[in-house]
Amino acid sequence: MTAVSVERGVEALRQQVDASVASYMSSCIHCGLCAQACLFYTETGDPKYTPQRKLEPLYRVWKNDFTLLGRLASMAGLGCKITDEFLDEWEELIYDSCTLCGRCTMACPVGIDITAVVRKTREGMVASGHVPEGLIGAATRAVEGGGPMGDLLPALKAVIRRSEAATGIPVEVDKEGAEYMVILSAQETVGFPEIVEAYSKIFKQAGVTWTISTKAFEGTNVGIQIGSRDIARTLVQRVVDAAEELKVKAVIAPECGHAYTALRWEGPNLIGRTYEFDVVHITELVDQLIKEGRIKFKGKHKSKITYHDPCQTNRRGGMLNPPRAILAEISENLVEMEDAGLWNWCCGGGGGVGANERADELKTKVFMRKKRQLDGVKPDELVTSCANCRNIIEEALDHYEIDLPVLGLTEMVAEYMETDEIEEPAADKAVKGEDQ
Ligand code: SF4
Ligand code: SF4
Repeated sequence: MTAVSVERGVEALRQQVDASVASYMSSCIHCGLCAQACLFYTETGDPKYTPQRKLEPLYRVWKNDFTLLGRLASMAGLGCKITDEFLDEWEELIYDSCTLCGRCTMACPVGIDITAVVRKTREGMVASGHVPEGLIGAATRAVEGGGPMGDLLPALKAVIRRSEAATGIPVEVDKEGAEYMVILSAQETVGFPEIVEAYSKIFKQAGVTWTISTKAFEGTNVGIQIGSRDIARTLVQRVVDAAEELKVKAVIAPECGHAYTALRWEGPNLIGRTYEFDVVHITELVDQLIKEGRIKFKGKHKSKITYHDPCQTNRRGGMLNPPRAILAEISENLVEMEDAGLWNWCCGGGGGVGANERADELKTKVFMRKKRQLDGVKPDELVTSCANCRNIIEEALDHYEIDLPVLGLTEMVAEYMETDEIEEPAADKAVKGEDQ
């Protein structure tokens, strides 16, 4: 990297310093509590992964340019150095060893939002060119081709055809005036296509009208992961334009943690205005439809399950109760892991870590935290409501040779709904078979 790119990065970091950042930078009491909250520290024991250390790039810029002593020191050539080597070293801390899970933020006794600072620091890293290859590729494909895995429209059309054949329920595409517009994560379109069948069954019974836009069906927002407001804005705008063109009442955020964060919490600030529609997460909507008596169930899941809270929908998004309320309707045997709920541990692959091949070994190592949680309750199945978590957990379970099925919450709801067409759930058949 050149001195010019380093200066571009420093300037981008300068742009991130607002009143809240300034207060964070002057508040740390060096208590170390954030270290115990971060799986990258607890599972490696390496002090370099202490979350507080991840504040350092923005701290240096704040100290040099926003404090009197720092400005004087800089004038005398004694300011904190920000060099290419420094940014190189911190690139690993900012991207490979932070899933933006939010646990350190919760733990900090003086209220420093370390997670938000890491997110802001990524803006400087992008501007200076210190970004992992995997994320650059995903971001380029998302901007040019529609999604992080490229143009998935042909795959989506195949998923829709398959859903219609399996359920006999037509999927309305580009339907103006539908109540809801569904967006999917690329992981769902490619890895968990049954989700569209689940939507069809649930919404048919609940009397909900919905559609998928062929112009904007991708919920994944790589801009948030890589730390580029420009890319994040472009991807949010695509969804906003499609939803407003179709005049839907709300967009349904998919089972994907950061897709929900991007559209619901960051989106209006990114595009500089409120939307003409609401944003609702699929789990929230299903919970509401159940409470309104619009979804009925037959029987309950009998085997022992546990629920993995996706960080972005739960801790960062506030959706703690809806998945549990849904599971109470469809499961007889939910056991909670230690630290479940607000303090649940990350799968290890959020915040772009899963798309960063360089971080694979570290990601697998920190999964030991989830493994210990699972060992504590020994479930027959694990349920979650984020396709990225599901994928990361499945890969890690494979790595550690653990035979534990991972289920998607929305699919589970569809499986237990009371409809004439739906067969008795396979899992219950198996349980009954074992009992005989
Ligand atoms: S957000 Fe999560 S992964 Fe990142 S530093 Fe904080 S605790 Fe660690
Ligand atoms: S928990 Fe907060 S105050 Fe304590 S070391 Fe970490 S950032 Fe500093």
